[in-house]
Amino acid sequence: MRIEQIYKELGISKAVLDFGQKIEATLQERFADIDNIAEYNQLKIIHAMQKNRVDASCFNYASGYGYNDYGRDTLEAVYATTFRTESALVRPQITCGTHALSIALTANLRHGDELLSPVGKPYDTLEEVIGIRSSKGSLAEYGVSYKQVELKEDGFFDYDAIAKAISKKTKLVTIQRSKGYQTRPSYSVKQIGALIAFIKNINPKLICMVDNCYGEFVETMEPSDVGADMVVGSLIKNPGGGLAPVGGYIAGRFDLIENCAYRLTSAGLGKEVGPSLGVMQSFYQGFFLAPTVVAAAIKGAIFAANIYEQLGFSVIPNGRESRHDIIQAVHLGTPEGVIAFCQGIQGAAPVDSYVTPEPWAMPGYESEVIMAAGAFVQGSSIELSADGPIKPPYGVYFQGGLTWPHGKLGILSSLQRLIKKGVVTLS
Ligand SMILES: *Cc1c(COP(=O)(O)O)cnc(C)c1O
Repeated sequence: MRIEQIYKELGISKAVLDFGQKIEATLQERFADIDNIAEYNQLKIIHAMQKNRVDASCFNYASGYGYNDYGRDTLEAVYATTFRTESALVRPQITCGTHALSIALTANLRHGDELLSPVGKPYDTLEEVIGIRSSKGSLAEYGVSYKQVELKEDGFFDYDAIAKAISKKTKLVTIQRSKGYQTRPSYSVKQIGALIAFIKNINPKLICMVDNCYGEFVETMEPSDVGADMVVGSLIKNPGGGLAPVGGYIAGRFDLIENCAYRLTSAGLGKEVGPSLGVMQSFYQGFFLAPTVVAAAIKGAIFAANIYEQLGFSVIPNGRESRHDIIQAVHLGTPEGVIAFCQGIQGAAPVDSYVTPEPWAMPGYESEVIMAAGAFVQGSSIELSADGPIKPPYGVYFQGGLTWPHGKLGILSSLQRLIKKGVVTLS
């Protein structure tokens, strides 16, 4: 069967497919660069698995207290080798990225300490962790204060203001790599390295933590290669490779990770308890697949940027910029545009393709959010997904896609839906 025919059966018209094919043909060189990064990262992970002597017994089921859970302990060593850190905590008991970040912060801050964000407002859910929006169990409730330095107009670091904001109280600096739901740039590992060097030059004792969500394996280096004391992320994003059903990780300096383990479980218990409950094969295999899965997701993001830029929408990053995370923002300008885009992504999914997403008041978020995700793992955003808060500038944030053909179908499907709703016309 010809490719046009199967696209047609999936609801993609010849005009939309032709438009997509023309754009794709212009991207071959960039796609080759992405494949080169994936190759490097694939080798890095295989090397880490070999070095730590991963074997079939690592996939065994462990229950109860989880003492001597060999698979869990070895996986943590594999993460530490990959991120080139002294230690790592990688657990199904870490429920999501927010939880991992919350552990890293609460474990390493004490009453009277101050947390500093030198990169403007953090990710929405962290506002409640920190207590920027008052919330039960926040750091603010425990007497940890917070300061934030706004970004300069160009979206980069205001070094003078950062130097002024650091005081004797400052203990930990949190740096978010990805823009998340914002319109600022996502930062390259090199840019993060320069910021960390600047901060350490003022006070080498300051703990630099990087929220690495959506950034893993986009480049050949990670923030832990350029001085970050802790890197933190979610396993239902990049490093889970689409296979991890839950989980988060924190990799970093030995003493800081010890603190995290005591916070996650209990004083006196730390890393010793917490059984892996049969998820180890998916954690290892997902981590193994993560570099090529991330490459597929970046190809989808670049394809989307070029498609929507060509149609006159503002896209961040633009079609030519280098990539530092897997997120693509497209400003559709209207609630209808955001909704149609997300419904198109949903319609291209292998799971739940027949459901129609609608905006809802999602816990942890300030405004209503619409989310499209026909995912194998609930809420997984390394799988093809799109979400947009229903607020100006009516941007949709698109990410993931375990395979490039799926990402491509999703974007063509979003375009088809926008045409149907009259938001877009192909000339
Ligand atoms: C997704 C994300 C988080 C939170 O992760 P959850 O798994 O959704 O809790 C934090 N920071 C950034 C930058 C993210 O992208």
